[in-house]
Amino acid sequence: MATTKTNDQRTSRAVLRDVEPGSSVDCVRCGERVKFQAKVRNKQVICNVYENGAWVRVEHFHDECYAKAKRPHGPVDRTPVIKARQRQAAAS
Ligand SMILES: [Zn+2]
Repeated sequence: MATTKTNDQRTSRAVLRDVEPGSSVDCVRCGERVKFQAKVRNKQVICNVYENGAWVRVEHFHDECYAKAKRPHGPVDRTPVIKARQRQAAAS
């Protein structure tokens, strides 16, 4: 009963992230800019795309566009990133 756990991370995967200020990427699905808007706190889906076990590119989607595209790179990892920016909070 060996637990053959294939540690195969070399497949496409998708994560949910905040859109950063100054973001200048376009959504792969709708072609619109993935814009930072301070009041809205937009989310984007970032996909690392692998083909035949090799990384080929990063694709960005609006959160809702990724769902509409039927999650082409698998389910979204929605684990929040640790907030390491609390020191900057006073800067605004
Ligand atoms: Zn979009």
